[in-house]
Amino acid sequence: MAHETTGFGLMEYELVIGLETHVQLNTLTKMWCGCANEYGSDSNTNVCPICLGLPGVLPVLNETALRKTALTGFLLNCSVPGYAKWDRKNYFYPDNPKNYQLTQLDFPSTVGGYVSFESFGEIVKVRINRAHLEEDVGKSFHFADYSGIDFNRAGVPLLEIVTEPDINSAEMAYDYLNALKNILEYGAVSDCDMEKGQVRCDVNISVRPRGQLELGEKVEIKNMNSFSGIRRAITYEFKRQVEVLEKGGTLVQETRRWDDDAGLTDSMRTKEDAHDYRYFPDPDLMPHRPSDEWLSAIREGVVELPLDRKMRMVSQYKIPHESADVFVREPLLGDYFEQAAKGVENSKSVANWVINNLQAKLVESGTTIDGLKFSPAAIGELVDLVEGGKISSKIAQEVFNEMFKSGVSPLDIIESKGLSQVSDTVQLKAFCEEVVAANPASVDDFRDGKDAALNFLKGQVMKVSRGKANPKMVGDLLREMLVD
Ligand code: ADP
Ligand code: ZN
Ligand code: MG
Repeated sequence: MAHETTGFGLMEYELVIGLETHVQLNTLTKMWCGCANEYGSDSNTNVCPICLGLPGVLPVLNETALRKTALTGFLLNCSVPGYAKWDRKNYFYPDNPKNYQLTQLDFPSTVGGYVSFESFGEIVKVRINRAHLEEDVGKSFHFADYSGIDFNRAGVPLLEIVTEPDINSAEMAYDYLNALKNILEYGAVSDCDMEKGQVRCDVNISVRPRGQLELGEKVEIKNMNSFSGIRRAITYEFKRQVEVLEKGGTLVQETRRWDDDAGLTDSMRTKEDAHDYRYFPDPDLMPHRPSDEWLSAIREGVVELPLDRKMRMVSQYKIPHESADVFVREPLLGDYFEQAAKGVENSKSVANWVINNLQAKLVESGTTIDGLKFSPAAIGELVDLVEGGKISSKIAQEVFNEMFKSGVSPLDIIESKGLSQVSDTVQLKAFCEEVVAANPASVDDFRDGKDAALNFLKGQVMKVSRGKANPKMVGDLLREMLVD
């Protein structure tokens, strides 16, 4: 946390942050026309008179965008009012062909929720003011002596999620953004591909002396597209603003730009007010009045939230938080684990297998979970075999590798390869005697009180038995043979 590790002056100030996160919805088509909502097409190929803002055209609402918005609202604990309307935000900019952006000013599609997430090992809450729908604009490209605009992005549905100023550190902002992204991915409302600019943030930052109720003047850094960049920008801004105040200066509400290479912000313009945009209700679009049936159908699509899933996994399977974190970040792996753990006593061991062995193998072989040759139940079977003493965990490793290659079940592999653990005392004694006879020096060491020598001998027995000896029994037998 910046204000606890940097200079003394910072301690006396509180950092206040509010985030406006713009997320492209993953609809097939754009918000008001049938053009493809598709990244990576040739410039200006996904365009039509509507999204190019030619005169005389009429927008037609994309219902999927409305549904995904309502679903997001539910996932963010918002309510979905019975009335939402569309407004024109008027401004001129080359990437905005209509000279206005359609948005929802005073009657947004969802209002008043919160996001719960983990930050500094605690569960914290950030209130959501609203999540409203608007449209994306085109993208400008600047070349050596001219600029170009690609309108493929113009009219793509954009959900703007606005927090209350509840965030008080750069790290908490970072954690919030990751949690939000995770929730949106769970709801499958957006692909949240940062590289494709599908998540962009306006970051509002102010400071105030600790204990002061009134908020300070805020600085807004617009259009940031990297979470770690946001974290750095906040840390920088906090220091800068406190320094201004400490030197007796005043802060003004302004828009600043983050220069990632230089690692600083600089002023772009003092902030415009809402009235500068001449907002007015769009005369071409009907307000949206969601019916109860429409809303309850959407409610059925509400999924378990990442944090809820994590807490459930920890208590249901008695797995460590770190393991549950992995499953929450990678939901497919988590689903796989839950299937594998079904009916298995030691679900913690199943989790270890899935995370340490399966995941590593998947990465190593470039396979995905759906490409696996064995079912999740096979992992459970493998764990049960180890637990039941049928095979050692070392042999289990071998069985797993074979299973990964061939898809044959663990039991079949063990039988066909004769890998069952040897727990027969007579057989084990024979192994031990062989090893004791071959290693007199270690035997003497052990008798002289060097306990490590026993481990060495044990290892030799495992080797002689080609990993099949029951390690616990070997230890007991050796001790018995040598201590007399
Ligand atoms: P604007 O009208 O300038 O867009 P809003 O009141 O709509 O301002 O708030 C935009 C975002 O800025 C919200 O996320 C809000 O929580 C945050 N915010 C508002 N005031 C402050 C402040 N003084 N410091 C930090 N964030 C703020
Ligand atoms: Zn179009
Ligand atoms: Mg704003």
